[in-house]
Order: sequence, then C-alpha cells, then structure tokens
Amino acid sequence: MGLNYQSTRDASYLVTSSIAVLQGLAPDGGLYVPTELPQINLDFEKIAQQSYQKTALQIMGPFLADFTEEELKDCIQKAYDDKFDNELITPIKKVGGKYYLELFHGPTLAFKDLALSILPYLMVTAAKKNKMEQEIVILTATSGDTGKAAMEGFADVPNTQILVFYPQDGVSPIQKRQMLTQKGANTFVCGIEGNFDDAQTKVKELFSDEELRQKMAAKGKVFSSANSINIGRLVPQIVYYVYAYGQLIKEKQIRPGEEINFSVPTGNFGDILAGYYAKKIGLPIRQLICASNQNKVLTDFFQTGTYDRRREFYVTSSPSMDILVSSNLERLIFYLTQNNAAQTKTFMEKLQKEGNYTITKDMQAALTGFAAGFATEDKTQSAIYHVYQKDEYVMDPHTAVASSVAADFAAETPTVILSTASPYKFPRVVLAAIQPASLKADDFELIDQLSQLSKTSIPANVARLKTAKIRHHTCLPVTEMKDYLTKILEL
Ligand SMILES: *Cc1c(COP(=O)(O)O)cnc(C)c1O
Repeated sequence: MGLNYQSTRDASYLVTSSIAVLQGLAPDGGLYVPTELPQINLDFEKIAQQSYQKTALQIMGPFLADFTEEELKDCIQKAYDDKFDNELITPIKKVGGKYYLELFHGPTLAFKDLALSILPYLMVTAAKKNKMEQEIVILTATSGDTGKAAMEGFADVPNTQILVFYPQDGVSPIQKRQMLTQKGANTFVCGIEGNFDDAQTKVKELFSDEELRQKMAAKGKVFSSANSINIGRLVPQIVYYVYAYGQLIKEKQIRPGEEINFSVPTGNFGDILAGYYAKKIGLPIRQLICASNQNKVLTDFFQTGTYDRRREFYVTSSPSMDILVSSNLERLIFYLTQNNAAQTKTFMEKLQKEGNYTITKDMQAALTGFAAGFATEDKTQSAIYHVYQKDEYVMDPHTAVASSVAADFAAETPTVILSTASPYKFPRVVLAAIQPASLKADDFELIDQLSQLSKTSIPANVARLKTAKIRHHTCLPVTEMKDYLTKILEL
C-alpha cells in the first residue's frame, strides 16, 4: 500500500495522506505520522540548481503518496506564485557570519504563509479524491498570525469558507488591520470580547457541537481545521530546509554533504519538527537548535527530560512563541520511543492529567541532534540592537530569539537562522530596541522609520494596509459566537 499515516497513539489506525489532510487530528486525539520514511534521492548539486517549486514537488510528493504528480504540481503552482514578493520564495541573507533564511516574503509576512498558502489546495484536492462533496468550513481562533495567513490562503478558494475569531483587544494594530481588510467573499472575521483562550475554548466547543454538526450536514457542509498539527502544514515546511541547503551550495557557502545547523524560533514545535523530518530523509543537519523565549518549557525539556507545563505564562514581544503546550512535540516523543504508540499515549495522557511527564534515559539519549536555549526579553532586544548596529540588518523579535540563542553555540558549523516574521509586522518592538526615541509616532510612521533605518522598501502588503478598506465590522461577546456562525452559514 506504500506510505500511509498512523496515529501517534495507535499503530493500527491507518489512513491515506489525503484523509490525514482532511481530518487534521486522528480520531483518538493522536497526531498523524507517516508509516515509513520515504526514500528521496537528495542529489545536492541538482537541488542547488532547482527552483523552489521543483524542490517542493520532489520533497512533498513522496510524503503525500496518494496525490498524483499532476495534482501536486497544480497545488504548488497556485500556492507559490507572485503572492510571494521574492522569486526565490525563501531567500537567504548572509549577515555577520550567519545565514538568515527569510520565510516572511508571503502575503501576511510570517512563515505560516509557506504552509497556509498550499493547505487550502491540498484540502480541496483531497476532498475531490475522496469524493467528499461537502463544502469545507474552516473555523479558527487566532492570536494574530495564523488567522490572517489562513484567510489569505482560503480566500476565494471554491467550495470553502473560513471564519476567524480574534480577541478584539489582544492583537497588534497591524495584525488587526490585516484581518479587518481581508478580501474574499468566503472570508469572515469576528472580534470577540475576551482573550485568546476564550475564543479558542469556544471554537473547540463549536467543533464538537452535535446540533451544529447535524445542521451543517443537512446543508452539505463540514468543519475542518487549519491547525499546525495538520500534516498538510507540516510537509510543506520540510521543503525550505532542503531548498536552503541547495541555495548555500549554489552560493558556494558550503560543500555538498557538509553538515549545517538550523536555529528555529519555536512555539508549537511545528517548524522545527519539519527540520527533523528533513534530517531523517538525509539532509546533513548537525544540530537543530530549539530557541524559546521566556516561556522556556522546551529548553527545560531538552535539558532535563521533563516536560512540565505547570508554570507561569509570560506575555512576551514574540507572541507566536508564547505557548506552554507544544502540540507537535508529540511526534518527536513518538520517534524517541522508537515508534511505540502505546508508550506515547501514556506520556500524553499524563501531560493532560498531571501537567507533566519525564521521558526515559534511553529516550533522552536519543535526543542528540537537538540543542536548546532561550532568550529573555532583554537578550531579544539586545540581539535586535547589536545585529542592526553591526550589520544594519533588522530582525523581528521571533527571529531575534533564534539569533540570540544561536550565538550561544559554537560557531564552527555554518548556521542558518529561520527568520519567521518580517520586522514590519512588529515595528514598535523593533524600534524600541534600535531607536527608542521614535516611539511616540503611530504604527504607520514607525513603519516609515523602519524602512529608512533598514534601507529596505516597505512590503506592498504593509503599505496597502494604510488605505485598505475595512471590510469586517463584527464584534461580539463569546456567548453569541454560535448564533453568528449559524447566521453566516445560513444553517
Ligand atoms: C508560529 C510562529 C512561530 C513558531 O512556530 P511553531 O511551528 O509554532 O514552532 C515562530 N515565529 C513566528 C513569527 C510564528 O508566526
């Protein structure tokens, strides 16, 4: 049967890749993992000459085994086009002896665009393959980045609708404007009176609301999720690790086969897990450096073998990494147990019930290949400041965390820092580090200053925001979310 997907908690539960994309999460609450590792011929000299799109086909094809080459080519072509403002899609900049892999050239200026611009096409293709005729309704609660990237990806994709709920006072002014100006007849954005957790909890409730499900079914609709545990988000992220390696060869920075490190600003553990898969299929990676902010639950895990979410939660300047339960870590745990689903399930249940678990000595010994560290708010600010002073390169706070942590490790191995967001998305935090005197201005004035300081032009998608029409006006108490949804979906 070739490559299928199983649950991390049950080896006997098998589905095709297209069903895994449609379901997101396995019915037992586990995460889907491939039943075998695909054999991919990584001819580095050839990859160095390949386009991003060609590399995407080469890497994604074997993981998404029941998609035809033609279907995948079509998805890739629609996803990675001129909505990215750099034809390399993920260009690399050499700064101060390190390499910054810029993953923010997509429509919402954050790395989530790499996965969320292709996920809608993978879902629609998967639905067709499985003769599923319902309309797919994506429900998302967002703290800022994911909701916008998902809407941008699903906007006007036939047979889909997307509803995004965000805390009306819990996102940055730029993020809010990005969402409220969203185009697309099938996109709906709604502010809620409450915080992100309130929105998230309610969305989960709506997902499992039986009355809603029946009304949806009667209208030919079905809920789905664009959450980062979906393999349709994970697999596209493997591509840029391989592509980056090819680019370094092309630029004569490394020799084919030479080992390199990647430093990854980490929250839900999705991005770095894609790097782990890249290593598993043969990319010469010495270390994957897991970089955290003050919420350093992962640093502690890698250092002690104990994962413990019972701790204080900090709101930091890198909000997309403010996470205490990194969902995708479950897949690494599964591999550390040598693919033991029963054991993985035990750890995850302990985490849910008691808030912590400790892996075995053998599992800890298998963690070679990972390094971990964290950056405090001070260190993050200081990284932004120093890299700018020395090399005139301006980083966003998430990238700065990875840059700061990478600096703590030996420099002999060429190191790529994953730059997950554009500094233009966080102008206030960035300028506070570089030029605090400017902070009285409004965000759009700060953006102009940022452009002057960094000698880069303002991305079109940011410039456009200033005059873009506000298209979404709804804001509700959490208790009215269900009525709102019923009305929008005409149930
Ligand atoms: C989501 C996000 C991260 C964290 O990525 P994970 O896959 O959740 O680990 C880091 N930086 C930015 C800018 C993000 O939006």
